[in-house]
Amino acid sequence: MKKKRHITRAKKAKISEILTDSSHASTHLWRSARTADKAQEKIREELSELRSRFKGMIARGPVPFIVVDSEGYVREVNESASQLLDTPSSKLVDLSFGYLVHPADAGLWQEHLKRCSERGTDPVITELRFRLRDQRVLHIQLISNFFHREGVDLFQTALINQTTIKRRAQDLQDSRDFAESIVQTMRHPLAVLSEHLRIVSVNKAFVKLFGVTPLQATGQHLERLIRFGAETERFQEGLRNVLLTGEPVEDVRFEIKLRAGQMRTLLINAHPFLRRHGKEGLVLVAIEDITERKVAEDALRREQTMLARAEALAHVGSWEWDIHKDILVWSDELYRIFGVERGKFDTTYKSYLELIHPDDRHRVDLIIRKALHHTTPIDFQHRVIRADGERVLRCQGYFLLDSRGQPAVLLGTAQDITELRATEEKLRGTNRDLEERTRLLESSHGEMQAFSYSIAHDLRAPLRAIQGMSRILIEDYFEALDKDGQDYFGRIMDAAQRMDDLIRDLLDYARMTTVQLPIGPVDCEAIWNRVMANFAGDIKDKNAAIKKEHPLPPVQAHRTVVELALNNLIGNALKFFPKGGRPEIRVWTERLQSGCIRFHVEDKGIGIAPEHQQRIFRVFERLHPADAYPGTGIGLAIVKKGIERLGGSVGITSKPGDGSIFWFELPAA
Ligand code: ADP
Repeated sequence: MKKKRHITRAKKAKISEILTDSSHASTHLWRSARTADKAQEKIREELSELRSRFKGMIARGPVPFIVVDSEGYVREVNESASQLLDTPSSKLVDLSFGYLVHPADAGLWQEHLKRCSERGTDPVITELRFRLRDQRVLHIQLISNFFHREGVDLFQTALINQTTIKRRAQDLQDSRDFAESIVQTMRHPLAVLSEHLRIVSVNKAFVKLFGVTPLQATGQHLERLIRFGAETERFQEGLRNVLLTGEPVEDVRFEIKLRAGQMRTLLINAHPFLRRHGKEGLVLVAIEDITERKVAEDALRREQTMLARAEALAHVGSWEWDIHKDILVWSDELYRIFGVERGKFDTTYKSYLELIHPDDRHRVDLIIRKALHHTTPIDFQHRVIRADGERVLRCQGYFLLDSRGQPAVLLGTAQDITELRATEEKLRGTNRDLEERTRLLESSHGEMQAFSYSIAHDLRAPLRAIQGMSRILIEDYFEALDKDGQDYFGRIMDAAQRMDDLIRDLLDYARMTTVQLPIGPVDCEAIWNRVMANFAGDIKDKNAAIKKEHPLPPVQAHRTVVELALNNLIGNALKFFPKGGRPEIRVWTERLQSGCIRFHVEDKGIGIAPEHQQRIFRVFERLHPADAYPGTGIGLAIVKKGIERLGGSVGITSKPGDGSIFWFELPAA
């Protein structure tokens, strides 16, 4: 039998307590539930209000918004979006949004939609181009968020117009490209330096001049690539100053050494400029290699100095007259010549005329006007009155024509010829004096010649008388004289003979200088025969050997001269041989290219030292006393004078002890 359970009083009391508590609790719970309902209601109301405010904000807010469905159709559109897309909302709603997308970006739009449909929590962002009704293209960034409404997938999409930013970025890029292309195409080396004065970029000209690649140059200090030498500090100082004060370095010259060791002259300009939103200070360094220019400038300066010096030395000034503008340009020397100061002279043609001596002015003006009319060169003289006196100038010039052939410029020189004129005048005087003296001299010379000729001639008569009478004395009274008397007589006869020789030679010489020597063909063979006949006794006495190599050709000359020449040369060859020896003579001729015949008389005699070879052709020049080798010392002088008067020449080759070759030349007949 099942044991009956007993509920104790204590248990009952407990139960009743619990029941009372629970009834309280349920009352409390019910009350709480009611409060919660009310709160929930309130929240719902607030939420709905918030939602409608939010919707209103989107609808009227500044940010363009659209709502598209998963097919890409527009479900909602706010005012801003309609404005942005330049299409009324009524036309946008239910439109496939892809219709507005630029065809080139259609794929991107599909991709965007696909990513939206994946319902991620992150917004989907894509940048697309849109083409509006007026063909404008907008760059719009789409930011889409997925949401679900009434069982439909929708994408709330903000449209951020990037067009302006894009355009600005493009403009910026364009101007950068433009700047870069300018930098690169500049013929002068350029370098952009950072605020730490390190190279950021260089152009092609820089690479070429300094022989570094852009890569090698980038990050370097300029003075590592360009050897400024002692000027490094000055260069760095200038660059630092550009950064600190913004003051540019302008046209500063530096002498530098290239890596190859070549010296160059650079003209450097450095300008500050800002980049990257004005945050970074940069320096643009433009380098101009002016070495060649400097060399040319130096050369020009040197030439100008030389020209100025030459002008000063020669007292020549140069000038140029621009005819159309009537402007005169004068060199420094010309100002000195005219005695006017640069700056105080009005450089016009009229002012120039005023500087001319009043008596010459009109004439000069006429000459220039005439030359201008005919465009002929000018060359005239005029005077100027300077503070230190009157000067004479010689002006020479010529015209330069313009494209129409009209005179445009007259240019030339003016020389101060005052001293020259004085010297010329003096010279003319001296010349006149000289001419007069020469005339006097010639006449007295002629008189002297005539006088000496007549003396020589007249001396011969008494001499002949002496010789004749002496001969009679010898014939009739010689035996009557004692030995001494005979000796004295012999000497008188010798002296008379010598005197006769002397007079004969002098007369020959005088004849060579004064008488006319008509020229014609001369038969030299006939002359030779006469000469041989003349010396036949001598040849026999001295046992001389004379060899004529070939017949002597005829010449165009004067017979007496040729005969005298051969007589003298053969006579000397027979005379000047060593004592105890025997004369050996060789004669030959040679036809020269000049058309002359050269006659050679060679002997194996005593010869003549080089220092005497010229003087023996002068009158009375003898190298030996008369008792060693008799003679008058006139023979060779006669030969020279006669041959030269016929247009020929004479000469000698000889060596003491080795004999001599005397020669003379005359035109062939
Ligand atoms: P001369 O024979 O009357 O002395 P020349 O005028 O003929 O005068 O010669 C001048 C001088 O030249 C001679 O005195 C002699 O010293 C030298 N002379 C001329 N011909 C010869 C020769 N063939 N050999 C050496 N000396 C010569």
